Amino acid sequence: MIDKKKFYINGEWVDPSVPNDHKVIDPSNEEPYVTISLGGTEDTNKAVSAAKNSFNTWKNSSKEERLSLLEKLLKIYISRSEEMTKAISIELGAPMDWASSAQMSSGQSHIEDFIKRLKEFEFESKFEDGSNNHIVYEPIGVCGLITPWNWPINQIALKVIPAFVTGCTMILKPSEMAPLSAMLFTEMIHEAGFPPGVFNLVNGDGAGVGTQISSHPGIDMVSFTGSTRAGKLISKNAADTIKRVCLELGGKGGNIVFSDAYPEAIRDGVRNIMSNSGQSCDAPTRMLVEKSIYERAVQEAADEANKIGVDLPSKSGDHIGPVINKTQFEKIQSLIQSGIDEGATLVAGGAGRPSNFDKGYYVKPTVFTNVENNMRIAKEEIFGPVLSIIPFETEEEAIAITNDTPYGLGNFLQTEDKERARRVSKQLRAGVVQINGNAPDAGTPFGGYNQSGNGREGGTWGLHEYLEVKTISGWK
Ligand code: NAD
Repeated sequence: MIDKKKFYINGEWVDPSVPNDHKVIDPSNEEPYVTISLGGTEDTNKAVSAAKNSFNTWKNSSKEERLSLLEKLLKIYISRSEEMTKAISIELGAPMDWASSAQMSSGQSHIEDFIKRLKEFEFESKFEDGSNNHIVYEPIGVCGLITPWNWPINQIALKVIPAFVTGCTMILKPSEMAPLSAMLFTEMIHEAGFPPGVFNLVNGDGAGVGTQISSHPGIDMVSFTGSTRAGKLISKNAADTIKRVCLELGGKGGNIVFSDAYPEAIRDGVRNIMSNSGQSCDAPTRMLVEKSIYERAVQEAADEANKIGVDLPSKSGDHIGPVINKTQFEKIQSLIQSGIDEGATLVAGGAGRPSNFDKGYYVKPTVFTNVENNMRIAKEEIFGPVLSIIPFETEEEAIAITNDTPYGLGNFLQTEDKERARRVSKQLRAGVVQINGNAPDAGTPFGGYNQSGNGREGGTWGLHEYLEVKTISGWK
């Protein structure tokens, strides 16, 4: 059993104020593999005090100092990338190849991109030619960063690095379901020599440390990535202290496939939803297919899902691993059953574990067709490898169905008609629209409309989340 019971406060690994052991389960075999501590009010308060004290000096640090520490962190991250891959593979049940090529690498690319953005960023500028006014961007202060388990290091890097480069100090509360990558990242930060108190980590659950962070009067901003359910609670809890609340929440993405889509569009759409065992906030879980190619698309989607292997995370290859925990496994099973009960047609996968497993939270890659947008499988975020295929006849109908959701995070569309692609992408109510499988570049903003949140992470937009803007008149 791995022991990770300490917290990181004021530049040191410290014991929790009151022991509160929490064993985390390995999703591939249902056995506990690591013990962490769940923190309490005293631990949160200590971390907030450390962050508050260090803010007084860190806010005045130079760009060069920040850059030099980030460059050190990047070197360490690269040199320990195998450890990071292994940590993510264990905690998430992610196959090693995926844990490396998609998960671990996302942390590296965010550090690299923020180095670039920091170099370019002007923290002071004149208002306009001839004006006697000056605009200054200043760090917002002490930040509470709360992250989920599904893209663990991606989410941590998207918060910790911009908070750091803008001169903020912080308390990170990673997901209690996936603690290893966060603890390893903290070791790297320590090794890089971040000043004490700038970065602090307290493990805990939502009801404990999460709630203490969102309501804490000493915290100026909360950046949260996770479920819409928790995002609502955090917003309410933060209201009394008027702190800034940046939310990156759930999604129910649409993928509109027109009849002139490129030949691999259906296959790519299936792979896109099944990767990470379906546990991505922007996964295109509703595939809308034009009626004239519907029969062929259904066949291709079923064939592709049947080709996707489900296997142990420790094996190499492009299979998928288990989902994160028992609660998620059971939720997915019940949603698959609801699809059957509500009259959708199951063409691949279905309820129960794949036949090669009698243990572990493994789910069969599942495809439903003849789905209607008011069925639970089309409305709710399933967070498992389950695809719903919905037919449409006209462009207007496809747009209306895609937008008919409380979410608005990632949408996708496939057509060779460039005019149509641009027209439709502007009509979709979502923070990101991907045309013909082109993924967004590093440094572009990521975030949601509606109940998918209110923040934008990544690049310069990600820096602005952590900044206050000051107007100084009479500057000359
Ligand atoms: P979750 O909301 O259960 O937990 C996320 C984090 O919030 C964890 O650290 C948890 O301990 C904490 N938390 C839970 N309740 C809280 C509360 N009341 N107050 C404060 N903190 C609380 O989500 P999850 O299951 O870890 O992650 C999956 C969810 O995250 C999905 O809905 C997914 O779509 C979403 N997500 C969104 C993005 C995005 O960028 N929009 C990215 C990744 C994941």
